[in-house]
Amino acid sequence: MKALYPGSFDPLTLGHLDLIERGASLVDELVVAVLQNPGKSPTFPLDQRLHQITASTQHLGNVTVISFDGLTVACAKEQGTRLILRGLRAMSDFEYELQIAHTNRSLDSDFETVFLTTSAHYSFLSSSVVKEVARFGGAVEHMVPKVVAEDLARFFNSAFIPPSR
Ligand code: ADP
Repeated sequence: MKALYPGSFDPLTLGHLDLIERGASLVDELVVAVLQNPGKSPTFPLDQRLHQITASTQHLGNVTVISFDGLTVACAKEQGTRLILRGLRAMSDFEYELQIAHTNRSLDSDFETVFLTTSAHYSFLSSSVVKEVARFGGAVEHMVPKVVAEDLARFFNSAFIPPSR
């Protein structure tokens, strides 16, 4: 079984990584699909987001990282899967995720969205929260992989230097 885990990952957090690890343990192959965001202007360019995820998933043999633009269902079809993985942090995610899942199924009824509840430990994490903390020089090494902490420090030019793991 192959699944697609789509998202903006701007940037990757330990919550995303936890979902990737748990998702990868359930399927034969997990494809992390990074949205190019033509409408939004992302903090990190696509290449940097791809690198952050590739570097952080080296220990997982069945994870590949790709980029996509346009419809998630089109990307899934291209990848030869009809299974989409998403994460649910809290009730506030539910309405939005339900809307996307229904939209995807209305486009093609072959597609199924499977939700994993996030680990309680990381349920407070979002890419935007991490950026807010980093913007003001706060420590983020308990929120993001080391490569992302370094990119955040560089981006916000903060004094914070992530400890080596
Ligand atoms: P999008 O812009 O598509 O919502 P995100 O990068 O914000 O992309 O999120 C991608 C997926 O990861 C979503 O399903 C989201 O619910 C999930 N996710 C976000 N933060 C966490 C977290 N802390 N723990 C687990 N899953 C998360």
